[in-house]
Amino acid sequence: MLVRMRPQADRHAVQEVVRTLQDAGYDVLQLHRGGPSVIGVNGRPIAPDLPEQLHRLPAVEAVVQVDRPYRLAARDARPSGSTVRVGDVIFGGPEPVIIAGPCTVESREQLLRAAEAVRAAGAHLLRGGAFKPRTSPYSFQGLGEEGLRLLAEAREVTGLPIVTEVLDTEHVELVAAYADMLQIGARNMMNFALLKKVAKTGKPVLLKRGFAATVEEWLLSAEYLLAGGNDQVVLCERGVRGFDPATRFMLDLNAVPLVRQLSHLPVIVDPSHGTGRRELVEPMALAALAAGAHGLIIEAQPDPEHALVDGRQTITPETLATIVRRARALQAALQEAVAVAD
Ligand code: PEP
Ligand code: MN
Repeated sequence: MLVRMRPQADRHAVQEVVRTLQDAGYDVLQLHRGGPSVIGVNGRPIAPDLPEQLHRLPAVEAVVQVDRPYRLAARDARPSGSTVRVGDVIFGGPEPVIIAGPCTVESREQLLRAAEAVRAAGAHLLRGGAFKPRTSPYSFQGLGEEGLRLLAEAREVTGLPIVTEVLDTEHVELVAAYADMLQIGARNMMNFALLKKVAKTGKPVLLKRGFAATVEEWLLSAEYLLAGGNDQVVLCERGVRGFDPATRFMLDLNAVPLVRQLSHLPVIVDPSHGTGRRELVEPMALAALAAGAHGLIIEAQPDPEHALVDGRQTITPETLATIVRRARALQAALQEAVAVAD
């Protein structure tokens, strides 16, 4: 069961609802940062008179039974949608957010050049992996903490907030001390111990979809973060395994409007991993925005040919600047199309 608070309800009025539920012996989970407060009720069976009792409290807007396995992540929790703030950047608002940077932090020179180019291209956040999930144990595993220090330096120089992957429960505090947003990679989407620990940091999280995960499994992973007390969650579609090796993954753009209907969480798209080919990144980036994505995460750096990881799908800063410009134009055109058509 979900108890939705009126948008104007103040903290004390919401607290009254929480106390009422706790006094009646229910487990209470609360979302409050990304929009109006929502309370999830867990545990014992719901007493038949409880919804009516709750409705009498001034803060309560609606009491909803959710018939899906996830609850706090369900659209019903916040029909108007959630926003997630990272520094001055807002996911889930009217402007698409663009995250860009190298796949992997390789050296100080590489990262600082890339960061400057990403800023100049007009992107909003800098990406770069310090701890890398590599399929082969013999591939470059990333610079670890040194990579985090370089990301912090790049943030200092450019002013761009940084998003980087946390690979393991043992690194959560370390990565959280440097990053503005924690990325949970596709291979870790179902690492529930990691999700629980990341929830506790209270940091914004970018939750990538596993490449063999259903939309429902993905939203249940988001639910772990929300139930853990962290509602600063952005979903990221990054492609699923297809049958055709012509592209690295199959970018599932169906998932974008679908999760926007099923969930209130912002959703962005990764056309780099989703295609694996740099010449497909721009068209799929624009397609993702047309499908309703709240933003993009793109691998870009000045010298893609020499990238140690994922060079084949990495674009140049020039292409990135084109995508940023076209994304803005597309956004304006879509708004106008809706206004004209309506
Ligand atoms: C990445 O963003 O570099 C990455 C490893 O992504 P994914 O987890 O989606 O494969
Ligand atoms: Mn990559």
